[in-house]
Amino acid sequence: MEEMLLHTDNIDKATAEVEAAGGRILLQLGHNLLVAKVPSHMAKQNSFSHASVHIPSSASVQSLSHANAYWMARENELKPQPMIQKWTERTAPMAFKREYSDESFQGDSPYRQTMTGKIAYAILVASGPGSLAISDSELQKIKSECITGLKFWSEQAQKNGVILSFAMYWGKATITTPNPSYCSNAPSCHDKFVNPTLQALKFSTGQVGKDQVAQYVKNDAKADGAFLAFFSKYKQIHFAYAYFGGGPLYMQYSNDGWGSDQIDRVFAHEVGHVFNAPDEYTNCKCYTNYGKGSCTARNSNCNTCTSSQGGCIMDSNDLGNLCQSSKKHVGWC
Ligand SMILES: [Zn+2]
Repeated sequence: MEEMLLHTDNIDKATAEVEAAGGRILLQLGHNLLVAKVPSHMAKQNSFSHASVHIPSSASVQSLSHANAYWMARENELKPQPMIQKWTERTAPMAFKREYSDESFQGDSPYRQTMTGKIAYAILVASGPGSLAISDSELQKIKSECITGLKFWSEQAQKNGVILSFAMYWGKATITTPNPSYCSNAPSCHDKFVNPTLQALKFSTGQVGKDQVAQYVKNDAKADGAFLAFFSKYKQIHFAYAYFGGGPLYMQYSNDGWGSDQIDRVFAHEVGHVFNAPDEYTNCKCYTNYGKGSCTARNSNCNTCTSSQGGCIMDSNDLGNLCQSSKKHVGWC
C-alpha cells in the first residue's frame, strides 16, 4: 500500500473506489482532497475513475493550500525526528474534565464517544492584532502539523483493523480583541478569543456556537461525529489542553517548550484526551476504567501502574507508538 494525495470532484465516489480496491481513506482535506492508502499498482498507474494524483490547475485556492500543507507534512516526515521525551520532561500538555455534558452526546448530538468511523475535525484559528496575528505561513504550519497528528491516529487505527478517517476543516478568523492582561481560569482566558472567532465565522458565541460549528462540519462531511480545536497566540491558562471526553482542545502556536515543530505530537496527545484516553506519565489512577460503552480498560500502561511501561503517545512525544490500553480508551476493542 502506498500513501497518496488524491484530488476528486466527488468525495463519496472516490472513497468508494479506493475502498473497493482494498485501499483506505486516512484523511479528507476540505472538499476535494483525500489522503489514502492505496494498492501500489493503482497508485503507479493513477488508474482511478473518480480521483487523480494530479491536482488540476483549476483546483480551488483552498485545495491548493491544503495540498501544500500536506506536502509540508510529508517533507517533515523525512527530517530527523525529535528525541523521545516523556511529557513531564518539559511542560506537559494538560487535560481538564469535560466541557460538554454527557447529555451533549444524546440524540442528534454532533459529538461522538469513540474514535471510530468518520470524524469531522474543525480547526479554528484566531488571528489577533499585532503580535497575536497568525501569518499565512504560520497557518500552513498549523495545518501541516495537524495533518501529521491526525494521520498518526488514522494509521494506528488501520494497523488495528479499525475503520477511522478524519475530515479536516480549517477556519481562520481575523479579530481585533487585545490579549487579556489577566484571566483566572481556562474558560475566562479562551472565551476572550473563542467568542469573537465564532462570531467572525458567522456562528453564535459560547457553547451554542461551538455546537453549531460541530454540527456544520459533521453534516458537511456526512461524518459520524465532529470535534473542535482552537489555535491562537492568545494568553491561555496553559499552552495546550483538551477537555476530556468531548473536547474542544486549545493550543498556543508557540507550543511552549516543545516549539511549533512539535505541534503534531502535542496535538495528537490532546486528541487522545478528547476521545477519553488518560495521561500515562503522572498521577494515574490504576484501578479506574476509562473509555466508553463496552470498550473500557484500566490505565495499565501508566508509569505508576506497571513496571514495564511501553511507548505511547499518552506518555511521551512518541508518534510511533500507541499502547493497548489507550486503544481501548478511544474505543478500539
Ligand atoms: Zn495529557
